[in-house]
Amino acid sequence: MKTILSFLSWPLVFFSGLLCTYFAFASERPMFAFALVYAGEVLLLFLLERYIPYERRWLIPDGEMANDIAHTLLTKGLVQLMALLGAVFPMYTAILLLPFTGAQLNIWPTSLPMLLQVAMGVLIAEFGLYWSHRIAHERLFFWRFHALHHSVTRLWVINTGRFHIADSLFKVALSQLPLFLLGAPLPVFLWLGAVTAFMGILTHCNVDMRTGFFDYIFSTPRLHRWHHSKELREGNTNYCENIVFYDLLFGTYFNPDRPSSTDIGIRGQIAKNFLGQLAQPFRKDGVRQILGRPTKSG
Ligand SMILES: [Zn+2]
Ligand SMILES: [Zn+2]
Repeated sequence: MKTILSFLSWPLVFFSGLLCTYFAFASERPMFAFALVYAGEVLLLFLLERYIPYERRWLIPDGEMANDIAHTLLTKGLVQLMALLGAVFPMYTAILLLPFTGAQLNIWPTSLPMLLQVAMGVLIAEFGLYWSHRIAHERLFFWRFHALHHSVTRLWVINTGRFHIADSLFKVALSQLPLFLLGAPLPVFLWLGAVTAFMGILTHCNVDMRTGFFDYIFSTPRLHRWHHSKELREGNTNYCENIVFYDLLFGTYFNPDRPSSTDIGIRGQIAKNFLGQLAQPFRKDGVRQILGRPTKSG
């Protein structure tokens, strides 16, 4: 039973999530319905983590849950707020976006079936997701923000959204601006958001999932666990967020024939509380702590 479940759980969670999203978006209150679908999938993964965990040790609380949830809410909340402001004050939004709208190409093929448009959207956005993520690892200036995400010593469904707000904004800018400039319609953005949301909770969940050939198309838990490895040779790989196309293309795909690493984390030190974590990359001493360099105070 457990073996069957480990083969079925990835496609089950991903495709049931997309199917339920289809009905949610067609309903009277699409955003509320989608939130319910998302919460349902989180709950399902939470239960699977207890039934077929990948690493038993990761079930033990690390005292970071409140911080993880706070970072998730701040990031999601800010994006929601920007969307709300756009809806409530269309004139101001139009003025703000004027420099961009002037550059808008409006060449998006809106007459294509939505499935193809979403596939195009995912492929184009992934280019920005890939490079923003790779830069965050390869450039110290950006790593100071991204280190928060990698500071966890356990992976589970709740720390999916543990990103520094600056890290998230950089990623959103690089991945969504090209779609905006090409003139992609709102449903493409909504579907991209849904795909990314399900992929996120899947890549971080602590469920023993056998993903087989999916590893060559999608960013799976197996690939993302390698990305969290403390060993830089293993960790500075698998940057893709939804589909692994650009990792394969640019030579950063890593999927050796052995179970993925459970020795995860960073060498540096991350502040203990939520506000401290937000401020840390902006403080000189804080950056030294993040990089694991000696500080004046020792
Ligand atoms: Zn990373
Ligand atoms: Zn991660």
